[in-house]
Amino acid sequence: MKKLNVVIWNEFRHERTKEKVKEIYPDGLHATIKSFLDVNEDMEVSLAALDDPDQGLPDERLENIDVLLWWGHMAHKEVSDELVEKIRNRVYLGKMGFIALHSAHRSKPFTSIVGTNGNLSWGRNQKEIMWTLMPSHEIAAGIPDHFLIESEELYSEPFYIPQPDALVFGAWFEDGHIMRAGACFNRGAGKVFYFQPGHETCRSYYNPYVQRIITNAVRWAKPNELGYPVENNCPHILTKTVDEFNN
Ligand code: ZN
Repeated sequence: MKKLNVVIWNEFRHERTKEKVKEIYPDGLHATIKSFLDVNEDMEVSLAALDDPDQGLPDERLENIDVLLWWGHMAHKEVSDELVEKIRNRVYLGKMGFIALHSAHRSKPFTSIVGTNGNLSWGRNQKEIMWTLMPSHEIAAGIPDHFLIESEELYSEPFYIPQPDALVFGAWFEDGHIMRAGACFNRGAGKVFYFQPGHETCRSYYNPYVQRIITNAVRWAKPNELGYPVENNCPHILTKTVDEFNN
């Protein structure tokens, strides 16, 4: 079985500069995400960071990624436009799935792929209840109808995203705000998932349900086996048999 090539890209700045963050995620929050994805035999997981050479994603690496997870916050602007374009094209061609985590709602790759600025309102860390809105969805597998996150940064509507193709999770916060917290988008031949928990001073990536949702999302977002759309190459004969397609 070919394993899914999964890369977790992290800005990786807070963990190196803020004591409180270092305490929760000593090797970076991407390393914590890797540790729970690593138990899956169908995944080969590795890490990338903004300050790595080529911002962690040289062409030869990017070209082999099946699913890219992205966490960024304070340095969105530092990510090169050239890299963003390569990521977007790879998603549109259906060669790679993209998962935007927490403050990646305003990251260049996410906003560029979905097409809006991703703005939202935010507030103090507080209790959050995550509600499963679409229990039949693959990403909700193994998740109860709701679960509690003890402390998470308040993210609130209005959230400037295009209407999601599937809204799998919705969040309620202690202060009364709500948020489209887990949203799927089909873009071109590729799949994109946004998932809200994951503030750097909160422990959400240790929550088993959050871990299960991210794991499910990686499998959901993987490229389709049928292959990629071919540009500017209309076949002369529009009807083929199954055998002809397979040859
Ligand atoms: Zn945050």
